[in-house]
Amino acid sequence: MIPRPFEYHAPDSLPEALALLGQHGEAARLLAGGHSLLPMMKLRFAQPDHLIDLGRLAELKGIREEGGALWIGAMTTENELIWSTLLRARCPLLVEGARQIADPQVRYRGTLGGDLSHGDPGNDHPALMIALDASFVLQGPAGERVVPADGFFVGTYATLLDPGEIMTGVRIPLPPPGTGYCYAKLKRKTGDFATAAAAVTLRLAGGNIEHVRIALTNVGDTVIRAVDAEQALLGQPFGAHALDEAARLAMAACAPVADLRGDADYKRAMAGEMTRRALDTAYERAMNPVQP
Ligand SMILES: Cc1cc2nc3c(=O)[nH]c(=O)nc-3n(C[C@H](O)[C@H](O)[C@H](O)COP(=O)(O)OP(=O)(O)OC[C@H]3O[C@@H](n4cnc5c(N)ncnc54)[C@H](O)[C@@H]3O)c2cc1C
Repeated sequence: MIPRPFEYHAPDSLPEALALLGQHGEAARLLAGGHSLLPMMKLRFAQPDHLIDLGRLAELKGIREEGGALWIGAMTTENELIWSTLLRARCPLLVEGARQIADPQVRYRGTLGGDLSHGDPGNDHPALMIALDASFVLQGPAGERVVPADGFFVGTYATLLDPGEIMTGVRIPLPPPGTGYCYAKLKRKTGDFATAAAAVTLRLAGGNIEHVRIALTNVGDTVIRAVDAEQALLGQPFGAHALDEAARLAMAACAPVADLRGDADYKRAMAGEMTRRALDTAYERAMNPVQP
């Protein structure tokens, strides 16, 4: 289908983009890579009168290390994440996750900020960001605020972003040495969204688990942090019993709905299996760290 007519704006700076957003209010939508918004416009689920393209905003671009954290501009594409030598060395979980998103064509255009702002429970970055303890930098008419990833996603296509705000970037605390990680994603074919996926970070101290984050993709109306599974693992040695218990509790945290990817029981079982695989790989990587 063809979208409804709209007016296209290409501001050159963040203040200009914010002013346009303020001027047109609910009638405007921000355009990043367009790979979620344009399909919705073609289906007429979204019918904005004004599209504000973020493509020229230099403030939303770049990947750098600053003050013990990584800063990644919202307009960074999936391929730019994958190609970043800084991220490969300092935050390989993000690279591993981005490699599993969509297909090469989509990864040339789709952006980190668009993936997060869209609030689709099938999108992969929300779980990766929660596993990494990331925060989002949001700029609005009243200034800047920083919001933790955990709690930002409040429902299907619903986030804490206010209508007049633009996500400018993401801050990720540098994972300490010895952090194991994994994004385990089950999908039917290249280019498909997850049937179920699990993002994990894990660290050990004295043979026991001292840090663990587990976040699940596409098994509820939004991303799910498996808090009970994390609690069950903390302070425990890693082993078959811990894995079984974590997988059981992760499954209990899910609320999947049946669709072409499977029925609810199958998806719940796959969330457990992805949790198990992600924890297992994260443990191996924590035990055998690759030097950056
Ligand atoms: C065939 C196909 C397969 C896909 N498979 C996957 C997959 O496996 N995993 C996955 O995670 N994604 C997948 N996607 C989605 C893809 O990653 C999209 O690119 C992503 O969801 C949205 O990013 P975008 O830059 O294209 O944003 P857009 O489509 O331009 O925007 C999406 C929404 O976010 C808003 N927005 C964008 N940027 C900002 C910002 N900086 N601040 C505030 N609001 C903003 C827009 O107004 C819009 O409402 C797939 C898409 C396609 C077409």
